Amino acid sequence: MKKPRTRRAMIAYLGSHSRYDTMRSWNLGTSFSRNIKLTRLTFPDQETCHRAFDLLNVAEAFDEFDTIISEFDIRHNHYWQIESNGRSGGYLVLYSGGKREMGYKSYCPSCGQRNYKQAPSWGEQPETQEEKLQAYFRTHRHWRDEVYLEQPEVKAIGINEDRILQIIREERKLGDVFSTTNKCGVCGNPRLNYTSPVYTFYRDTGTIGESNPEDYKDWETGSLKNLVDVVWDFDKTVDKAIRAFIDFCKKHEAVEDSILVRNPIMIAIPLKKEAA
Ligand SMILES: [Zn+2]
Repeated sequence: MKKPRTRRAMIAYLGSHSRYDTMRSWNLGTSFSRNIKLTRLTFPDQETCHRAFDLLNVAEAFDEFDTIISEFDIRHNHYWQIESNGRSGGYLVLYSGGKREMGYKSYCPSCGQRNYKQAPSWGEQPETQEEKLQAYFRTHRHWRDEVYLEQPEVKAIGINEDRILQIIREERKLGDVFSTTNKCGVCGNPRLNYTSPVYTFYRDTGTIGESNPEDYKDWETGSLKNLVDVVWDFDKTVDKAIRAFIDFCKKHEAVEDSILVRNPIMIAIPLKKEAA
């Protein structure tokens, strides 16, 4: 099938595409979907199909499948996402969503606690003269620059006045982003700063496209085309993921891993002879 280009073909493609609930059926949201139950897939032969049922218990059989699906999310910057839904995840559904920066600047590698402030360059206590001045400023940030020169604590640090003013100006530029020590507020161990922003991903459960195919007739052609682009990529991605799984099933069979006698799990091994 070729990608629909005309208005009529786009409406036919979107309007006849299978749909599924985005959450539970009572939520009423629906979106474009694909049935990926094994009984609905086309296998090259019976043997491959039988092996596929056993390989369902093998995580490795889905490595490439999962990669292909998550690449879709990344390609669309998480604005569009593919997620399974339905009992036992028998459907892949197209969702809209996005990512939000969480604002965390540091974390504790010992207990996992996150913090909205950066850890300072020093450890528990500032050591050098300049660090002492930075620490003092960070806890007394609301004065005019000259006021700092008069403070006994600042004078005691022993830096010349020009350098004091220079450091204070640099600090103001950085903003109120540091905590005073690097200690974790929960367990007391040293925190580390994140080197890139921390995101959280969210997913909407509203309806995507029209649940009544007739309603596409009111859509502008540009909007139809944008949605076709996404749904087309969704279909191609699901096709590719299914092919990856079937290819795996052509070349592997599930056997019980005899090493873990008390709690046997299935693992995949390559077939001796490649199935036709
Ligand atoms: Zn901690």
